[in-house]
Amino acid sequence: MTAPFVFPGISTRVVFGSGTLDLVADELAALCHRAALVVSTPQQADQARAVADRLGTAAAGLFTKAAMHTPIEVTDRAVDAFLRSGAACVVAIGGGSTVGLAKAIATRTGADQIVIPTTYAGSEMTDILGETAQGEKTTRRDESIRPEVVIYDVNLTLGLPVAMTVTSALNAIAHGVEGLYARDANPITDMMALDAMRAFRDGLPKVVAAPDDHDARAKVLYGAWLCSTALGHVSMALHHKLCHVLGGSFGLPHADTHAIMLPHTAGFNGVAVPDKLAPVAEIFGGSVGGGLWDFAKSNGAPLRLADLGVTEADLDRAAEIATRNPYDNPRPFGREEIRSILGAAWRGDRPET
Ligand code: NAD
Repeated sequence: MTAPFVFPGISTRVVFGSGTLDLVADELAALCHRAALVVSTPQQADQARAVADRLGTAAAGLFTKAAMHTPIEVTDRAVDAFLRSGAACVVAIGGGSTVGLAKAIATRTGADQIVIPTTYAGSEMTDILGETAQGEKTTRRDESIRPEVVIYDVNLTLGLPVAMTVTSALNAIAHGVEGLYARDANPITDMMALDAMRAFRDGLPKVVAAPDDHDARAKVLYGAWLCSTALGHVSMALHHKLCHVLGGSFGLPHADTHAIMLPHTAGFNGVAVPDKLAPVAEIFGGSVGGGLWDFAKSNGAPLRLADLGVTEADLDRAAEIATRNPYDNPRPFGREEIRSILGAAWRGDRPET
């Protein structure tokens, strides 16, 4: 019997292809008929200028200071630049950090957003915004946060360094895995998550072998879109919570942390929801966690929290922080279980389940 479900619909317009960056001016005109502030990190300022060139007079200005974890001091400066420029929209080009800045500007000003992702992190299709104030990162969800238009251009991902490609892809797969056992999962997000995992399984090794393999890059970016969409329509559980604690309280790099933790959280939860995660084991081979760990290892992903500078004492503190407030998860857990998951990830053990 098909279980009852709610599918909330997908409101974001998506343009996917190669060379689609050239469509940005048309998309902006269709969206808001007004000028846009273009945002990026300092590292991607050239790409922001390339966007502004394509927008011509519809480019109201550039703000190229986006930073990891969306610090509110940066957002304040960006909002100031946005208001002074007279823009009505934001166009963001970059990874999750830049998309986060666009979302932060939009929630404060009502600006419409066009987002052009260049990693697989998957913030673009979600209604989630994480922001950092006084060293603490908080996350909230609201429909007004979700970008109106997303332009995926495979060409922009050809130069994403291989190490970042691999960890970012595993970050995306983590959205898909948690989507499968989310309490508000539905048949559409399930299909998306599983099709995405097949795309990553087939595409990622080819990208690692030949980073400018266009077809393989397209497959991986397609998988990223699917995972981002799934994440944008379901709630998150243990995996995202643990990564949030490790990133927010210990300053660990976002994608690396997801890559290392995923086999362990998935293996832990797979015991409680074997039917839901059996397809993951089928796709990657072996057990749920073991298959993901093998896939990560064969693509050269980092496997040990210890290699990110985490100490054993940090693990105790992380387990304490991660169990302070209750949250959704298919398998009940306490501090001991979390400490054990973190210990295995710290050592880089291959999960058995
Ligand atoms: P990032 O955006 O910080 O990018 C890392 C670095 O890579 C930056 O310097 C960036 O400019 C550069 N870069 C990006 N694309 C590149 C490319 N194609 N070629 C060369 N360099 C490139 O990293 P990320 O992993 O994409 O995003 C992480 C952030 O996104 C975190 O803050 C995380 O919390 C957030 N995030 C949010 C959501 C959400 O739904 N709100 C989802 C996923 C991630």
